[in-house]
Formats: sequence, structure tokens, C-alpha cells
Amino acid sequence: MASPRHILTAVAWPYASGPRHIGHVAGFGVPSDVFSRYQRMAGNNVLMVSGTDEHGTPILVAADKEGLTPKGLADRYNKVITEDLRGLGLTYDLFTRTSTRNHYSIAQEIFLGLHRNGYVVPKTMMGAVSPSTGRTLPDRYIEGTCPICNYDGARGDQCDNCGNQLDPSDLINPVSKINGETPRFVEEEHYFLDLPAFSEALGSWLQSKGGDWRPNVLKFSLNLVDDLRPRAITRDIDWGVPVPLEGWRDRNDKRLYVWFDAVIGYLSASVEWARRSGDPDAWKAWWHNPDAESYYFMGKDNVVFHSVIWPALLLGYGGKGNRGGAPGELGELNLPSEVVSSEYLTMEGKKFSSSRSVVIFVKDFLARYDADALRYYLATAGPETSDTNFTWDEFLRRNNDELVAGWGNLVNRSVSMAAKNFGEIPAQGELLDVDREVLAASKAAFAPVGELLNRAKQKAAITEAMTVVAAANKYLSDTAPWKLKGEDDRARQATILHTALQLVDDCKALLTPFLPHSSQTVHELLGNVGEWSGGPRIDQVSEDGNDDYSVLQGDYKTAAVWASRPIAAATKLATPTPIFTKLDPSIVEEELARLESP
Ligand SMILES: [Zn+2]
Repeated sequence: MASPRHILTAVAWPYASGPRHIGHVAGFGVPSDVFSRYQRMAGNNVLMVSGTDEHGTPILVAADKEGLTPKGLADRYNKVITEDLRGLGLTYDLFTRTSTRNHYSIAQEIFLGLHRNGYVVPKTMMGAVSPSTGRTLPDRYIEGTCPICNYDGARGDQCDNCGNQLDPSDLINPVSKINGETPRFVEEEHYFLDLPAFSEALGSWLQSKGGDWRPNVLKFSLNLVDDLRPRAITRDIDWGVPVPLEGWRDRNDKRLYVWFDAVIGYLSASVEWARRSGDPDAWKAWWHNPDAESYYFMGKDNVVFHSVIWPALLLGYGGKGNRGGAPGELGELNLPSEVVSSEYLTMEGKKFSSSRSVVIFVKDFLARYDADALRYYLATAGPETSDTNFTWDEFLRRNNDELVAGWGNLVNRSVSMAAKNFGEIPAQGELLDVDREVLAASKAAFAPVGELLNRAKQKAAITEAMTVVAAANKYLSDTAPWKLKGEDDRARQATILHTALQLVDDCKALLTPFLPHSSQTVHELLGNVGEWSGGPRIDQVSEDGNDDYSVLQGDYKTAAVWASRPIAAATKLATPTPIFTKLDPSIVEEELARLESP
């Protein structure tokens, strides 16, 4: 076996301005967990980190609306989101938040390192202010016509039509999305990240990724590098990480821009995880070791931050841009191995929208349906490489026809028949060709399915795993062990059922990254005790001088391994219970009615 790899799974940080819907978790949540669970089963050292992104003006706007302080609002949605992610069984080694002292100090250290190396420069810019409140208007709350392509729904931060980054003052006929007024532009002093100083380093780094990355992610990123402009990394706002420079540190109206501090979260969460694990230097195995790998999971609207901006920050902190320089106290840090971006999921043909109730929040989904049913849907029909559409019809069909009638039925009839006739895993007698062939095919599936999972080709991986389920169901139908009733047939019946249970055990392992909850149930049905595929827990933690907060973490060194393991005859079988819930077709109409009535 190859020696274990160090794999950082860096998962996009959900924004804590409200509850998250299934479109969000389709992009960042489930794919990153499938990947991490597989890598752990394959024996690798995985560090999966993220947290809630809690700064920026949208948090202030939402807090005003709910009558809370920004911190109060972030507390509320950090809690909701943490519970959602636990419900989905997402195995974060640490899911924390950006309002920790640890995060503040690391974000400031990265800023200072960039500043020391000359990549952060002061500049004045025209900032938009609301004439009625006097408050700074966030870029994305200003809409107008794109000066480059004339698209009339461009936002103050970028144009979704041509993909160019914009400043609000670039827009033609800018209007505030909050109240429709025309913003006033005033001169503001800010610090800018000198992105053009990284165009060569970024370009050659991205060029080296050809063949590994999803083609649309690479193409999009290379286009961005062709036209880099300095980008403001401070903001006129009183909520966020203070700017750690003389004359700025104590100002209450200047903070680091939210996107700047949020991408640094991958590093700060790794450092926090290491401290909590008892070895404060443990994070370095994933960030300094040149052989360590890192995979960043997100929806496509976040690609620019992970394939251009975060690598630029890492290069600049390490002194690797055009202006040179030397690494700061955190050392030279690894660039992403791959940016794994999903496309968009729509809902019944429409864009998800909380305000227009084209939405189902994770919490509501999990209150009515199994987490594995959603995980299965997203793995088989999610937006891995192209936009896809969630429909309740399709959800019902996949749940009932594929999970319940396919995989669930294989487990149920194999375990029930063996339990009824033998009460335990029966002994395996002489094997016939039909037995040998199906067992060999099942055992052989681990290599190709594992290779697909390693490349984050999850749709192909689950399709391949489900062909083993189909082959096992066909084996049972062909050999029809229920017809073998006489004493003479008992040994043959035992062999067939032993074979069927071995296939169930193999499929349980092959499906564990996708369906961890039901795989645990199957593990127990086969007479095993203890944890097969563990999940995360919510713990209350604290840091010096700060309030308690909750994090998601867990010990995932559970029994699951990526291999066919021989089952043991004479193991007592548990009482069979269905592993999936068959849904009544009426749920489709009920859910569609919910969509229509806000
Ligand atoms: Zn445009």
C-alpha cells in the first residue's frame, strides 16, 4: 500500500446572514464530505476545515432587519448552520467561525506579511454612500449597467454577464438595491492588494494545472489572470477585522474587507484545529510539507477567490510575486492543489431565492426526509460539472426506485432470508462460477470507484458503485435461494446467502462516502457492533477572553476501510429493518404547494 497522503479538504465558508438552502450544500457541503470520507477510508490523513463567514455589510443589513447586533445575528446563524451540517453528516475536523480571536490574529498576520513585502498599497477610491443613512453601500448592493458589455444587471463588485470585476463607481446609472436611491460617491482612503504583481506567478501556476482541474474552472481562472487590477482589501465599515497598521488599528470606521479575511479562514481554522488537538504545530503537515495536497470545494460563484485571490495572498505572504520579499512567521504556505468547483443547482427550473420562496432550507429538508436521500440525490443528479435542476418528482423517483427498490431491497432480502433460515451469516460451501464471478466483480470495483472518488468524479463513482448493487440483485434473482427448500439444497442455499451478504458488505463500503448513515445501519444489520462511519458532533469551546462558541468536530478514525473484507460465518444477524423510507407520491404536490405559498 502507498504511504498515507496529507490531504487538506478546504470547504467554502457559508455566509452567516441566514439559513442555508440545499443549493448551497450541493456546491460546497456534500461533495467535500464524500471526498474526505473516501480519502480517510483509503488510509490518508485528511484535515477538513471551514466555518461560518461572519463579516461584511450583508450581515449588518440582515441584523438591522432582525433587530440584532451583527454579532448576535452571526451567533444565531452560526448555530443554525452548524446544526444543518451536522444533520447532513459532514465530517469537518473543525467547523469554526471568522469571529474568533485566532482568526483575527491570523488574518492580520497575513495582511502584515503582504504589507511588509510591498503587495499592499494605499490608494484613494470613490466609495458609494447611501444619502439617506450616511452608511457605506456594499458593492454588491449597487446595481447598474456594465461599462464593458452594457449588461444592465451588473453589480458593483462584478458583472455576471461578462465576468469582469468592477468598482461601484464604474457602473452606468448606479442604484442602491436596498432602497432604490442613487448612491453618493465620496473619496475614501483604502489599502489595495497589488494583484497585477502576481500575474506571472499565477499564470504559470495555473498553466501547470492543465489536465488535473475541471476544464471550465481552469479556463475561467486563466481568463481572470489576463486582466488583473489592484483590488481594495479594506472597507468603510465598523464590523470586521481591524486593519493592523499604525493610525488604522484603532479606527472604528475601517476594517479588512470581508472576502479578504474569509479566505484566510482555511489557514486560521487549521491552526485552531491544531491547537485544539494538543499539538499546536500539527497544521504544518498540511501547509508546509511540499507533498501535502489541498482541495478547495465551492460553488462556481466563488472560483475567483480560490483560484486567483487566495493563491495571490499565499504567494505574496511567501514573497513570491514580482516584488519579491520573504515569508512571514507562518512560513511559506502551500498553494491549492485543485479548485473543485460545482456549477449551480436550480429548484424546479428556477434560481433559488429565499425572498421569493423558491427554496428549501436544509433544516426543513432534514425534518421531512433522510439525510442520505438528499446526499444520494446530490451525488447522482447534482451540479458536478454542469448546472442541474432539483425537482421533487426526480427526488421521489430516485429515492423510491433507486435507493429503496435497488440498494434497500438488496439489503432487506439478503439479511431477512439469512436471518429467517439461519439466524446468522451461513457458512460458505463450494463456490460455483456464478458465485465466483459476482464476488470477483464486486471486489474489483474498489479500484475504479476509488480512483474516480480520488479525482472528485463523484457522479461517475456512485454510478459505478450502483452497478455492483444491480449485479448483486440480479445474482439473487438468478440463483433464487428462496426456491431451495429441501435438506439437500440447504448447503447451496447457505452458500448463495453467504455470497449475497458478502456483496451487501462490499456495497456498504463502496457507498459509505455517499451514504454514511445507512451504511452504519447495514453494518449493524450484518451483526457488527460499534462505529463504522462516524459523524460530527457539536462541542462548546472557548478561547481566552472570548465567549463560548460551538464548533463541529469529530473523531473519524472509525472502522470504515476502502476494501472488500471477508465476512465471518456464524456472526449473529440483527433483526432486519428497512434502511430507507419509501415516500408517498403525494409529497410532490405538498412540496410544490409549499413553494407557491410563501
Ligand atoms: Zn459586463
